[in-house]
Amino acid sequence: MEKYLYKPLPGNYNLIMAYPAIEEFALASLGYLWLYKIADMAEGVNVLRCSTDNIVTLKKIDSVAFSMSFDFDFLGVFEILEKLNIPFYSKDRDEDGPLVFAGGPVITTNPRPYEAFFDFMLIGDGEESFKQILGILKNYSKKKALELIKEIEGVYIPGEKTKKATVQQLPEVIYTPILSSKGYFKDTFIIEVSRGCMNRCAFCTASYTNLPFRYNEYEKIKNTIDLGLKYTNKIALLGAQISAHPRFSDIMKYLGDKIDDGINIELGISSLRTDAVTPEVIRTLVKGGQRHSTIAIEAASGRLRRFINKNLKEEQILNAVRISRENGLKGLKIYSMIGIPTENEEDIEEFLRLGKRIKDENKGFNIEFSFSSFVPKPHTPFQWARREDTKSLENKQKYLEKGFAKSGIPAKFSSIKWDYWQSVLSRAGSDFAPYLVDVYKNGGKIGAFKSVMKNAVIKNEYSLEEELPWDIIEMEPSKTILQNEYRRLCKR
Ligand code: SF4
Repeated sequence: MEKYLYKPLPGNYNLIMAYPAIEEFALASLGYLWLYKIADMAEGVNVLRCSTDNIVTLKKIDSVAFSMSFDFDFLGVFEILEKLNIPFYSKDRDEDGPLVFAGGPVITTNPRPYEAFFDFMLIGDGEESFKQILGILKNYSKKKALELIKEIEGVYIPGEKTKKATVQQLPEVIYTPILSSKGYFKDTFIIEVSRGCMNRCAFCTASYTNLPFRYNEYEKIKNTIDLGLKYTNKIALLGAQISAHPRFSDIMKYLGDKIDDGINIELGISSLRTDAVTPEVIRTLVKGGQRHSTIAIEAASGRLRRFINKNLKEEQILNAVRISRENGLKGLKIYSMIGIPTENEEDIEEFLRLGKRIKDENKGFNIEFSFSSFVPKPHTPFQWARREDTKSLENKQKYLEKGFAKSGIPAKFSSIKWDYWQSVLSRAGSDFAPYLVDVYKNGGKIGAFKSVMKNAVIKNEYSLEEELPWDIIEMEPSKTILQNEYRRLCKR
């Protein structure tokens, strides 16, 4: 069952909005769905949704737009292009072939490994540029359209020397425009409360590629909540740092009061900053049916948290857990990371100590640790950092698995091998294009990466002075500021 919360307009220009994964995930992606809505409401554009398990059939495709959120999305891009019979490389598509373009966090962070496949890419916030692009696409030939699109803010045409990422004020509150029982978050009305995060943890692209922190006005958020409640009782608030909204407690109170008035609301929020966990917030979440929540501490050792600029004290972590337990949550997932630069044995030992302390102080409360491994990302102060080698990270993982099992604390780990390939992709240059195609053709699994990438030049660390493949993307803060920040953190 699908419910459209807007009126689509018909058109003759055939645009495919492609999500490089299964439809269940496409229907949970707020950014993708919002751009789909923009296209669906644009006069003269006939837009179709497409995902790896839902391929559309059309006599003539005028253009295909991809939204890329994860480093391995290129596999889904190739799968869809192959199923649509569209050549992967833009140079192999002729004047009559469709225009293929892309945007999303992966493209904004580093478009270089993918530039051979797209005619153009959107860097930064896409909503406003996308509207302008649609206006051009439906009115001009492919060649002329490209000439005009080139002038739009944030549009990167492969081969250009530099491009500034677009940062826009939030003109309107973005929400789920299509409610679906097939989506990963079934029939859930997601509301974007804020964009970006001002905390600048040194590894974090959600912060560094989305500065400055922006938020929607309280009144507008209230109205959007009311709009959502007309269609569903499932409301979710989204933002990397929603608790930094100056009226976050009012937003939570608005929802809490409605629940107290007998309105049935199932409430979800993306994640809570550890030092923003308060009894009121937790009580509202519990009233809204939430049983578990998550906090991210990244490191258990205070030294390492300071090093990554996560200025969070151990007392604040313990408070967050205690408040969550005392106010009705059943459990808490604690996100952490191994392999942060400079991490030593003591830092690893600290995870076991802290885990035990949390468990001892919160008997009967369900604590689970969830670990990923550090992936250096472009446009962050850690973009130059070395990623620890896989064997050493696997040893740390085994040690922690054993230690946590001994303490009876559940702990989950991401795949160190996949994280490694993610780190390679995120810092790759344009020379990676043929390897990406080969990885796809060889099945796209770890084995394919291993055998195909044998011939690739993989850099695991960069010097502060050298030119980086993604330097062509100009972003605030500048490279100089990132260099200074990296030096400053290394002195801590
Ligand atoms: S608090 Fe979270 S979202 Fe903000 S910079 Fe740190 S890791 Fe990123």
